[in-house]
Amino acid sequence: MARYHIETYGCTSNRGESREIERRLRDAGHHRVDGPTAADVAILNTCTVVEKTERNMIRRAEELQAETADLFITGCMALAQSEEFGDLNAEVLHWDEVPEAVTNGECPTTTPDAEPILEGVIGILPIARGCMSDCSYCITKQATGKIESPPIAENVRKARALVHAGAKEIRITGQDTGVYGWDTGERKLHTLLEEICAIEGDFRVRVGMANPKGVHGIREELAQVFAANDKLYNFLHAPVQSGSNDVLGDMRRQHQVREYLEVVDTFDASLEEWTLSTDFIVGFPTETDDDHEQSMDLIRKTRPEKLNVTRFSKRPNTDAAKMKGLGGQTKKDRSKAMSALKMDVVGEAYEAMVGEVREDVLVVESGTGDSVKCRDGAYRQIIVQNASDHGIAPGDFLDCRITGHNTVYAFGEPL
Ligand code: SF4
Repeated sequence: MARYHIETYGCTSNRGESREIERRLRDAGHHRVDGPTAADVAILNTCTVVEKTERNMIRRAEELQAETADLFITGCMALAQSEEFGDLNAEVLHWDEVPEAVTNGECPTTTPDAEPILEGVIGILPIARGCMSDCSYCITKQATGKIESPPIAENVRKARALVHAGAKEIRITGQDTGVYGWDTGERKLHTLLEEICAIEGDFRVRVGMANPKGVHGIREELAQVFAANDKLYNFLHAPVQSGSNDVLGDMRRQHQVREYLEVVDTFDASLEEWTLSTDFIVGFPTETDDDHEQSMDLIRKTRPEKLNVTRFSKRPNTDAAKMKGLGGQTKKDRSKAMSALKMDVVGEAYEAMVGEVREDVLVVESGTGDSVKCRDGAYRQIIVQNASDHGIAPGDFLDCRITGHNTVYAFGEPL
């Protein structure tokens, strides 16, 4: 969990994006603090209307870099003129990528009482609290402890209540959904999902972060449940964090690369189309050039359609914070190389969708301006513009043709 400071410049669109960044950071257990000096992470959402604004943005970025451990720069100027920030030790990201980058590879934190929440048509259902791991870089674990799983029937009852309250997308969350039930001796994420999908109604279910170790033990059962239930998005977020077994050992991750690959192979064999989402931490203190190359090779080999790249940063009171860190420039170079590869891999996946018709796409929430954000069956993000002209709103299902893409999401036209 990080303490963050955020500054936003420019138009209402930028302000809306900052609000969304903050909402996601809050959901993941991060806290806003007053001023950059009290923060672990600063976020600068930039604007580039006139030259004077540009100079102000660069100056402000320099000040923030001097006052905070980690700096993320997003917004119009960051994306249009990223080279202007090239001399800074900062990460330049699309706003949608900022929340994941801030989490530093840690799992999301659920609230202590872990009650479901309905936000628009999105129902958030924490199915358990805690995890079975002890990652050396993680501070979340200190707050959440070992996994505690309520019974399947209780989670199904909560899911049913969300559907009755109007949820069209149920997000199954937890620090590590893949180990749901390990504390009670029942490794039954797949059974829980099957029972939730059996609830009457027209809705979709997204499974949240599940570490490779937990998924590996139930990969066959899980893949079969995905294949048999149209209500489940064909989407798996399994954060591998490194392509090097040595680094995974130092991170105290419980999986090895082989187990992650076996999960991917099983899903490939069972599902016609699915989205692999994974995370990598670059610049872990013991990561060598060769380790980094192994991570790059793993991305080339498994080609995840969604990929979160996080530059390692130290969290207080963690074992990784006591390790001698790599230089800032090394971390920056590796992060830059991996982000470029990510753009190729993810961009290729969205490019391949252009011209296709996607059926039963769910409108999940409003976007910027008059747009809406939708998800297809593989949880690919599709933006539809001029939603009011088309008479569509969150909660609707529609068919649409993919007309283009913007690397990390597609544009669609309703049919
Ligand atoms: S799985 Fe690892 S990163 Fe996630 S909460 Fe547990 S210790 Fe932290």
